[in-house]
Amino acid sequence: MAMSSGYKDLKNRTAEFGSKEDQDGIIRCDACPVLCRIKPGKSGACARYANDDGVLVRCDNLLLTQRVIEQQGPVVPFAERDWDGSPLRPGDTFVTGVGAGTTYPDYKPAPFIVSARHNDVDTVTVVTEGIFSYCGVKLKIDTDRHLGAETSAVYCRGEQVGHVTTAEYGSQMLSLGGVRHLTGASRKEGRITCETLLSLCNRQAVELQVDGASQVIVQAGKAPIVNGVEEQRMRVGCGSATIGIFARQWQGHVDEVVVIDDHITGQLSEHQAGKCLGIPPTGIRLIGHRSTPGRYFKVANPGTGWGGTDISDPLGVLQTINPDVAWPGMRLLLTSTTGEDAIYCVLDESLQPVESEMPSAVARVVDRIGENCEPSLSTVLFMAGAGGSLRAGVTQNPICLTRSVADAQSRVTMGGAPVYIYPGGGITVMVDVLRMPENAFGYVPTPALVAPIEFTMPVSLYRQLEGHMEDVIPVEEVIAQLSDEARIENWSEDNPWPFRPISKHGPRSDDQA
Ligand code: SF4
Repeated sequence: MAMSSGYKDLKNRTAEFGSKEDQDGIIRCDACPVLCRIKPGKSGACARYANDDGVLVRCDNLLLTQRVIEQQGPVVPFAERDWDGSPLRPGDTFVTGVGAGTTYPDYKPAPFIVSARHNDVDTVTVVTEGIFSYCGVKLKIDTDRHLGAETSAVYCRGEQVGHVTTAEYGSQMLSLGGVRHLTGASRKEGRITCETLLSLCNRQAVELQVDGASQVIVQAGKAPIVNGVEEQRMRVGCGSATIGIFARQWQGHVDEVVVIDDHITGQLSEHQAGKCLGIPPTGIRLIGHRSTPGRYFKVANPGTGWGGTDISDPLGVLQTINPDVAWPGMRLLLTSTTGEDAIYCVLDESLQPVESEMPSAVARVVDRIGENCEPSLSTVLFMAGAGGSLRAGVTQNPICLTRSVADAQSRVTMGGAPVYIYPGGGITVMVDVLRMPENAFGYVPTPALVAPIEFTMPVSLYRQLEGHMEDVIPVEEVIAQLSDEARIENWSEDNPWPFRPISKHGPRSDDQA
C-alpha cells in the first residue's frame, strides 16, 4: 500500500496544529472556538485538553479496541472483561474516536487517519471527535403512564431542555436538546441543555419535569422512575391487541373482558376476536368513543392510573349494562394492558358488578399478560449532524464524503457503534448510546457536545474523495506509538465489525437492519 511515511510523533498529535505558547508558558488551545488560554499544569474549560509542561495534551486517552478471537475464549461485551494485556493485533484493532481529539479549525485533517488491510482490501478509517452544535437526544421511555401532553415543555433544573413528542407503541417519547435550546435561548438554558445531554449520553441518571405533569428519572438501559415509582412492565399491546392475543385463553372462564388503555380500550364480546370465537353479547356498553366494534377511544383522560389513563376505579368505564341482554352471575374481568391492575367481578341479581375472588384460570391469563410484557427501559438515542469541521477533516472536498456516505460507500461508526444514517441531504446520524463505549461523550462550552465518529472506506475511495492522503498512518504505527498509554478495551461483539466487506447493497443493508 502506498502510504506517506511522513507522519509525525502521534503522542503530540493534538499539539501539531495552532496551539501557541507565550512567555508565561500559557498555551492557547484551538481545538474548539472557545480558544482557552491554559496555564502550565491546568486544563481548559471543557477539561478535555491540558497544558502538560508546554505541550497541549488530550486529557483522556485514545480508545483502541481489539476483537476477541474465538480461541481466546468466549466473546464478551465492552468492559465485562478487561483487555488481557497481550500485544494488539493490527488486523483485530479498531481505533475509535474516543479521546482522539477534535478537528478544529475546520481545515485541519482529522487527528487520526488510519490505514489497515482487511479481507485483501486496503482501508482507511478517519478518526475524530466531532463537535456537535446540532445535536440532541431522542428518549424512548417504556411506559403507558402519561408523562405529559404532546408538545409539552420538558425541564431540567428549571430550564427547558426539550419537549414531549409523539408517543410510540408502549413508549412515551421525549425530544431533548437541539440547536434552538443549545444556542437560541439564554446562556443558562444552553448550558443546562448541554449538561443534560452529556449526562444522558454518558449513561447517567437525569431528572426531568414535564410541564404541569409528571416527573421522570431516566437513565440509558434502566427502568424509568415516574413520579417516584419505578416502572416495571412495558405493555403487551394496546387494549384491542390484548383482547385479540388472549381471547381464546379467556373463553369459557369469563363472559366479558375489558382491557383499559389510554388509546384503544378493548371489549372481548364486541371485538372481532370474540365474535369469531362465538362469545355472546353481554349488554355492556363502555364510555368513550367507539371506533370499531370492541375498540373504544377516549374512555378516560390520560394519567398514571390503569393503562395510562387517570382511572383508579375501573368500573367507571362501564356506561350501561343492558338488562335485556346481561344476566345475573355474568363473569367480568377488567384489566390493564400490563396485567398489573386487574379485578374480577360477578353481576348480582340487580346486574351490578360485585368484585369477587379471581378464579385461578382467569388469574393465570392475567399472569400471562404480565409474562408477555418486556421490562420497561429508558433508551437514549443520540442524534447529530456532521458539520463542516468534521467533513473537512476527512477530505478537502467535503461534498465527496457526504455523497459517499449517502451512497453507502463509506461506513460511519461512533466509538465503533453502528449508526442510522438519515436519508436525504447532509450526514445526519442516530446512535444508541449503550452500543458505544462508556464515557464516550464530552462537551465544549460553546455549548456543544463532543462525540467520537469514524469513517471507514477503501483507500482507493479515500483517494478519490480527495482525502488527506499525506496524513494517513498505518494502524501498526498507532499501536507501536500509543498502545502503552491508550485505553484498550475488547471490541463489543454486539456491534458489526467496521471492516467487514461492504455488501453490494452497501453498508446500510447490514448496519441499519
Ligand atoms: S473548551 Fe476545551 S477544546 Fe475548547 S479551547 Fe478550551 S480546552 Fe480547548
